[in-house]
Amino acid sequence: MGSILLVDCSRCGKKPSYYTRRYSGESLCAACFQETTVEKVARTISKYGMLHRGERVGVAVSGGKDSLSLLKILHELNGGARSEAKGELVALTVDEGVSGYRDEAIEHARAVCDELGVEHVVVSYSGLFGFSLDQALDWKDDRELTSCSMCGVFRRRAIDEAAVKAKVDVVATAHNLDDYVQTFMMNLLHGDVERLAWLDPSTYDENFPVRRVKPLTEVYEEEVALYAYISKIPFQSASCPYMHEGLRSEVRDYLNELEAKHPGMKNVLLRSSLEVSSRLSKAGRDDDASAKATVPCARCGKPSSKGVCGVCRMTEIVWQHAKVLDRNGNIHTIQ
Ligand code: SF4
Ligand code: ZN
Repeated sequence: MGSILLVDCSRCGKKPSYYTRRYSGESLCAACFQETTVEKVARTISKYGMLHRGERVGVAVSGGKDSLSLLKILHELNGGARSEAKGELVALTVDEGVSGYRDEAIEHARAVCDELGVEHVVVSYSGLFGFSLDQALDWKDDRELTSCSMCGVFRRRAIDEAAVKAKVDVVATAHNLDDYVQTFMMNLLHGDVERLAWLDPSTYDENFPVRRVKPLTEVYEEEVALYAYISKIPFQSASCPYMHEGLRSEVRDYLNELEAKHPGMKNVLLRSSLEVSSRLSKAGRDDDASAKATVPCARCGKPSSKGVCGVCRMTEIVWQHAKVLDRNGNIHTIQ
């Protein structure tokens, strides 16, 4: 997609270009690339009214390139002349409990927070749900769910809990343009039309006090990675050992091929997806069958799309298969 050309930066005209945005034709030096990326995020924040002056903003930080770049960009917007994100930043990290993997990411998150002087709140699956992801996946029956579909449900709840603990007004997550269009395609391919309404870059649930926003919605994944690299952000590049992408990696490859042949295709798909999502979401607000309506979970009282929330359903599956020690130290499996 991008390529290195020996021409002057089309923005400052002084330094040699470092990266070419094929979809726009700009060839940019490293500094102008960084600046225009931050400007793009600022425009997205304004366009969708994502953040308001004086708010306490929780940034979901996993320790990967996307979330640490988002934290750095919001920190820059917060401290700079722009007003889009003037408020207080708090990094929210979820420790899923994956031995040999998550510790390094949390260290990177901590280091960047220290460098930027940002408060860092960490919550863990063990503390919130009573088991680590390692234990949950060890216990569950392989046939029931993929690791990511189970983990994703716990992770969303964990971020909500961290947001409440940190008393933030809004949570910013680092979903980039590629994540967005892949998820849109995945929902279409799964026939999950209702979920399309939840893909708004800025969402609000009447049953939960914290808004959710995605300030990197208009930034290509490749450009987030390049921003992290140029900004010398230390991040974890190893993938989670449980990552199970299945169809998503095929969708990613397909979209990357399309983009290579037709630069800007992902941008077009993003615009179409946002339009569909917005229309569905508005349709929901006008009648009782709101695609965004949640109800309190019949068991835990937290917002849920159905009678019993995903976390309560998953927790039950995990505990059904949990191995427990009896008073003599023998292992039993509850079935
Ligand atoms: Fe959880 Fe999947 Fe992410 Fe691993 S890759 S932390 S299993 S959602
Ligand atoms: Zn529940």
